Amino acid sequence: MGHGVRDIAGERFGKLVAVKRLGKRHGHVFWEFKCDCGTVKAIDYGNAKSGSVISCGCSRSDFEKRYRSVKRVRTEQSQKTLERHKKYREKFLEMYGRECRCCGEKNTEFLTIEHINGQKEGKEHSTQAYRKACCEYRPDVYEILCMNCNHAKGRYGYCPHDRNAVSRSGLNSEGIPLTS
Ligand SMILES: [Zn+2]
Ligand SMILES: [Zn+2]
Ligand SMILES: [Zn+2]
Repeated sequence: MGHGVRDIAGERFGKLVAVKRLGKRHGHVFWEFKCDCGTVKAIDYGNAKSGSVISCGCSRSDFEKRYRSVKRVRTEQSQKTLERHKKYREKFLEMYGRECRCCGEKNTEFLTIEHINGQKEGKEHSTQAYRKACCEYRPDVYEILCMNCNHAKGRYGYCPHDRNAVSRSGLNSEGIPLTS
């Protein structure tokens, strides 16, 4: 065996036991490995060493099983997050009147939380916003708006439903100066 070539014969990598060095292919050192299942296969030594290959391929079902259970846990977590969100949202709507403060929209699917004075730092996660609004009844801080009114307020600084409103720029949605 030449200089710098590690002899790994007899060493185990997962289900694979190195048998003999086969040589280099495309710069990769290949070894003949014997898998616990009995299969003999040429495998890139680098992959066996790093653990990215742990069998002749017969272990793939193990990987899939493990992957599936991880995925299931994730789904359960996001399910919980969703339920928590729904719970706080429902409580919020109940506390703050179940309709858009601006246009009176009553379809709860359209309704959302609005911070009356705008939000200072970034966007709060909406679940947290609902939760905070439920902790204490603060109609001076939070209100219910429908998506339309919320969007108009966020984008133009006022809702066109409110005829006396003056946008932040003093212009209405058509760019015409508003005077009151
Ligand atoms: Zn195998
Ligand atoms: Zn509205
Ligand atoms: Zn409105």
